[in-house]
Amino acid sequence: MGLFLRIISVFVALLACCHATLAQDPIAQDPIAQDPLLDKPSLDKPSLVVILAVDQLRADRLTADLPGGLGRLVREGYVFEQATLDHGLTNTCPGHVVMSTGMNPTKTGIPGNNYIDHDTMGDRYCVDDSDAAFTVLGTSDIRSPNAITAETFGDWLKQQSQQSRVFSVSGKDRAAITLGGKSADGVFWYNRKAQGFTTSGYYAAELPDYVQQFNGKRFFEDGFGKQFPAAWAHGEGKSRKDDYIGESEMHSRTSTHHLNTGEYEERADQLYWSPYLDVATAALAKNIIDAEQLGQRGVTDFLAVSLSATDLVGHLYGPFSAEADDSLLRVDEVVGDFLTYLDETTDGNYILALSADHGVQALPEWLSDTGELTCPIEGGRIDAQDLVLNMYWNLYWEFTFPFGDPRDLIGFSAVGLTVNESYAKELGSSVDEVVASLEASSERTVGVKAAWTVSELQTSEDPFARLFRNSYVPGKSGHLITQFEETCLLWLFPEGTSHVSPYMYDRHIPLVFFGAQVRNERSSQARHSIDIAPTLGKRIGLTLPSDLDGKALDVWQPVADSDQAATE
Ligand SMILES: [Zn+2]
Repeated sequence: MGLFLRIISVFVALLACCHATLAQDPIAQDPIAQDPLLDKPSLDKPSLVVILAVDQLRADRLTADLPGGLGRLVREGYVFEQATLDHGLTNTCPGHVVMSTGMNPTKTGIPGNNYIDHDTMGDRYCVDDSDAAFTVLGTSDIRSPNAITAETFGDWLKQQSQQSRVFSVSGKDRAAITLGGKSADGVFWYNRKAQGFTTSGYYAAELPDYVQQFNGKRFFEDGFGKQFPAAWAHGEGKSRKDDYIGESEMHSRTSTHHLNTGEYEERADQLYWSPYLDVATAALAKNIIDAEQLGQRGVTDFLAVSLSATDLVGHLYGPFSAEADDSLLRVDEVVGDFLTYLDETTDGNYILALSADHGVQALPEWLSDTGELTCPIEGGRIDAQDLVLNMYWNLYWEFTFPFGDPRDLIGFSAVGLTVNESYAKELGSSVDEVVASLEASSERTVGVKAAWTVSELQTSEDPFARLFRNSYVPGKSGHLITQFEETCLLWLFPEGTSHVSPYMYDRHIPLVFFGAQVRNERSSQARHSIDIAPTLGKRIGLTLPSDLDGKALDVWQPVADSDQAATE
């Protein structure tokens, strides 16, 4: 079973590679003493900056005909229609940290959701920590932003405007923490073990009263879930019928899906896998604005919100499912309500950036039905367990025969294959020799497009090599990254779908700016989510770090014109 579990988190992408210089930790620098944001003229000073992430929202799902808030952002905002992630390993933790730091993952210390620490060969989570002081309230997990080696937008703001407040909220810890950063005043996320929204001891010793009230004693009795129905019901989808082969059976393949029934733990889990998670997250975001008076205090505040349900529903049923269609409409409604709340509380004086941390591949069964499956493997699903066992078998005969254990020689994570250097030496071999063997066997495998070593990625001009370089973090990323053929899905289960590849279905994301002084325009320029933090930071007059990968985009109405209009 241990092996089985290792394989799961594993391999979902096999990435890695090359050289990269880590940014020095800018947090250690002296904060800038003055508070420049306090003296800005009001036109130049939005009172609230918002980053709104919708987890797993593919660009093609964000359309102007959505009746609620997502549609409104498209109809009224500055829309970059060809925006992409500029890195190759597309999962949640790096996808969020690039929005908040303006840097590709290679400079942020966050290559993926999980990685193998080369020194200990231990499996690490992107926002875990070993300091018990950072225990998540109500659980035994330990979480902090300490693995992030770059500053975030919130860190810049707190350094340069001490009176500004910085908050972050999400259905997931890794989204809330990577968006909120190190100096946030409050970072909250939903946790099934805590059975409500919680935080880490890193940010606070206890939850503020308003979050405790929001949770209630039991969230479904006197807390945020008390109005939720017993089940999540929906109709047929616009692309296909509700019941479809390849969808997950975990929470039923068809409507209705249990939501608020059973034991407390069951309800907490059912909620997590439903669009009601976002209903709760957005409600808490409004509570934060109200309790902390964000955007209403004469300084510029910052709030990050990451809505997770699109991802969770997408993993189970795929992006063209009836569940995904219904979930999107509910998120659209939630966002509409949230925007109206921002309009009212800030008098419209806020700016907002919408994006996603990654997209997702459609179910292979759907791609097969629609003639879009190009994977050379029948059905499009690569069995991760077979692949790993085959790899262990080869390593056994080549390196660990007769009494060694190949499972100790390599570690799998979503950021590649990591070789255990000390064990390789013990066996009379080296990292390079093991990598060469793995590369050869990988490249013989049907469904594998390329297996990239670190040195190959350093020298290759292949566009995929550049993307993987942007994901590479020394000491965390694997020694070998396996790039599968387009539409081949590496997965442990014969149902559901995922993301993590460098292909456009995983990398093409929404990028919309919206709010005070934002032009209503559409652009086909290739821009990236790393442009969010510098664009927002420049707008409010922050001094930006000099080594950002992203650029400040011009999405604003010319100030001179506005001044003129005001005097005419
Ligand atoms: Zn995600």
